[in-house]
Amino acid sequence: MSGTSEGPTPAADHRSAVTESDTIYRSVFTAAALAMAVVDRDGLVLRANDGFGALFCRAPEALSGRVAADLVDLASDPRTWQAYHEVLGGREARLRCTRRLKRPDGQAVWAQITVTALPGQTGGVLLSVTDISASHELQARLRHSQMHDPVTRLPNRTLFFERLTSALDADPYGGTGRIGLCYLDLDGFKAINDTLGHRVGDRLLAAVAERLRRCAEEAGHARPAAPLVARLGGDEFALLVEDSTGTEQLADLAESVLKAVQAPFDLDGRRLSVSASIGVVERLAAGTTPTALMQAADTTLYWAKADGMDRWTLFDPERNAHRMTRQALASTLRPAVERGEFVLEYQPLVGMADGRVRGVEALVRWHHPEFGVLAPNRFIQLAEEDGSIVQLGRWVLRTACRQARRWQLDHPGDPLFVSVNVAVRQVWDSDLVADVAETLAETGLSPHLLQLELTESAVMGSAGRPLEALQALSDMGVGIAIDDFGTGYSNLAYLSRLPVSVLKLDGAFVRGFQYEGDGATAEAAGAPAPNPADEVVVEAMIQLAHRLGLTVTAECVETSAQAARLRRIGCDTGQGWLYSRPVPPDRIPGLLGQRARGGDQVVGNP
Ligand code: C2E
Ligand code: MG
Ligand code: MG
Repeated sequence: MSGTSEGPTPAADHRSAVTESDTIYRSVFTAAALAMAVVDRDGLVLRANDGFGALFCRAPEALSGRVAADLVDLASDPRTWQAYHEVLGGREARLRCTRRLKRPDGQAVWAQITVTALPGQTGGVLLSVTDISASHELQARLRHSQMHDPVTRLPNRTLFFERLTSALDADPYGGTGRIGLCYLDLDGFKAINDTLGHRVGDRLLAAVAERLRRCAEEAGHARPAAPLVARLGGDEFALLVEDSTGTEQLADLAESVLKAVQAPFDLDGRRLSVSASIGVVERLAAGTTPTALMQAADTTLYWAKADGMDRWTLFDPERNAHRMTRQALASTLRPAVERGEFVLEYQPLVGMADGRVRGVEALVRWHHPEFGVLAPNRFIQLAEEDGSIVQLGRWVLRTACRQARRWQLDHPGDPLFVSVNVAVRQVWDSDLVADVAETLAETGLSPHLLQLELTESAVMGSAGRPLEALQALSDMGVGIAIDDFGTGYSNLAYLSRLPVSVLKLDGAFVRGFQYEGDGATAEAAGAPAPNPADEVVVEAMIQLAHRLGLTVTAECVETSAQAARLRRIGCDTGQGWLYSRPVPPDRIPGLLGQRARGGDQVVGNP
């Protein structure tokens, strides 16, 4: 046959070219540093390269026929498993995941696994494995340093909140569904840091951390997990108890921590003793948030500090509610004056000898839109703390003076003085003298119909401005009374040097005057005997006060027996439920003309 050409046909040419490139590819595949295996559509290894063999400490050929998914742990999570089958079936092009592989020699490897679909009819995939152990470890170390405190090597605030959040999110059916927290702050750490330096301070923190870790470890015995100990910053630490069993478990932990911290520390040959205050919270995890839990812990820690430190305190919802009301009150206090939520009631001050009403004490009440009528002991201290007492005090002064002037005009025959309570801060922080002068001028009330009540502690040791203020007020003709006398220093000699005209004997003294006659009668009646010493002391006090030119008013006179004894020992004026409770101003005129028989009768009780 002519025309037949010599040599390979184009088809054979092509075949040999393919075979050649096939050979090249094979050798590239075999020698590549990247661990690779060709896997058939049934998931069995067709061929592995040297890198792949090395990864599994086997000759590459020995891996042929093995189930690829088992080698690289693709079945351990359902999503990856599903995705793997999509790629195997040719419906997806690629899958990538990270796995921690255990090699036959025992070494663990962090691997990034890629599965790529191969072209062609036969299907199958290319499996490649990259060892990412080094970068993984670096990342882990980075994360560790981001999540731990370098001084104590404890988990830091970030890690603590991460754990707390996931603990609160955890499936409640897995454990007890409860969570507990000990929030700890060292007492007086700042002083140690300031006097001994930061180096010693840091070493102390590290030593404390070590003890806390040990407490947690011991607490973790015979339990699924030990509490997490974290440093939240400064000298604050937290022990988080997941799946707590109740307050008792937390109380035990707090107790052991307290003891552990109390034992002296030896640092740099120096012996240091410290203590800690701990706020303990234990509750159901459901319905609480990290913020709510931390707030409760913070409040409780504050209580532990306020109660004297070196102790643990358990969160008390009632005490917290009280604090919340305090906060709610404090925040509505200032605008309340402008909104006119305060009213004054007046309580008669009665002459003991004749039972005539001489004056009235103005007592403030707050008609709170939410909490109802509040007595002054609920808000006066708050008002002092936030300074709104100055504004409130001005309102009280003006209202009381205006009222007294009204009575004076309506009942010219019965001049009635009004006694107004003045808080310490009003003397210090405002121009009390100017306020009083202005108010008297504005209302037209004569100064001698105004009396100001200050507590003993407010005037004790007063020099400079407060003393000048007292003197100026007294010079104006305004009376000054010492309120609650006997509860403080009771320094009569000192008080007599101040421009004071009245002592108001504290109710505690009067309480001892319950019974007339001798102690035997009272005892026979089954009541506690009055202490005769009380009477001797009070009598001496009244005599001394008189000699120093002061008159004496007894507070809290509730029975006629008390009134009789007070009158006998020379008390000038009385105030109390025996005569009248504090009443609204329109009730006062009705009490004016009345005179109590024998001076100790009820002149008007609502
Ligand atoms: P205080 O000045 O010693 O007022 C006497 C308190 O004793 C009043 O309580 C009064 O209601 C109560 N009291 C009167 N008679 C009796 C009695 O027979 N038995 C008993 N158990 N108690 C009696 P209140 O009104 O609750 O006032 C408490 C304190 O609040 C006052 O003590 C005073 O220190 C302060 N306060 C009241 N109003 C003002 C004010 O306008 N400004 C300032 N700064 N403090 C005020
Ligand atoms: Mg008073
Ligand atoms: Mg008083």
